[in-house]
Amino acid sequence: MPELPEVETTVRGLERVLAGERLAAVEVRRPDLRRPIPVDLRQRLTGARVTALGRRAKYGLIHTDRGDTLVFHLGMSGRWRIDPEMIGPHDHLLIETEGGHRAVLCDPRRFGSLDLVESDALDDFAPFAAMGPEPLGGDFTAERLGRSLAGRRGRIKALLLDQHVVAGLGNIYVCEALHLAGIAPRTQGRRIGPERRERLVEAVRSVLAAAIAAGGSSLRDFARPDGELGYFAKSWRAYGREGKPCLCGAPIRRRVDSGRSTFYCPRCQR
Ligand SMILES: [Zn+2]
Repeated sequence: MPELPEVETTVRGLERVLAGERLAAVEVRRPDLRRPIPVDLRQRLTGARVTALGRRAKYGLIHTDRGDTLVFHLGMSGRWRIDPEMIGPHDHLLIETEGGHRAVLCDPRRFGSLDLVESDALDDFAPFAAMGPEPLGGDFTAERLGRSLAGRRGRIKALLLDQHVVAGLGNIYVCEALHLAGIAPRTQGRRIGPERRERLVEAVRSVLAAAIAAGGSSLRDFARPDGELGYFAKSWRAYGREGKPCLCGAPIRRRVDSGRSTFYCPRCQR
């Protein structure tokens, strides 16, 4: 499943071919993904110029000079392909630029989404309205995290996956950040003091930045948006390493909570 670093990598890849470009042709090849695709999407995007690209949590943003922003989510299996040789049955949106490039959104399982939102009203777009701070942005601080955790019950692992606390973190990066910060996943969020919160914020930023620098990371269906299907090799500290040694030598353990695996080191994480 594409996580925040993959979305960031995707946006950077799309930027290379879309930024500043006029969209010469837009083709929507089915009426819906996880939810309906706006019926006027083709009409509103055709002829528009892309002014900038961005990301909010795990959503990619393509801003246009018509005051609309195309908001995409990659769901479980979505990816963009640039200048693919063939168009397949899972390619649901085709965008051709005046410069002669073609960007294609492919999503076999169709858990992704496409929305067209007024750029001025992006903060009111339902998925963004109650979203917490960007983990790589200046608003995600130990102090802000402390305020979020103070009012909530629950374990830190679950709280970091809560989009109200911090936006866009998935299971892999939460496991990795908790391991790097030396905090046990079952710790009550409210009991984590200021120094450990500081370590945790730094750890979240660090694991995300490392993954983005590596070009994103993936488990299965993700391809970089350069037209090549491919997998990123990424070595994790704890994730997916049950029974294998931690850096300290103790074996990494796995626990399953509500269908999600948590990987952790019982010695390093307290
Ligand atoms: Zn360890």
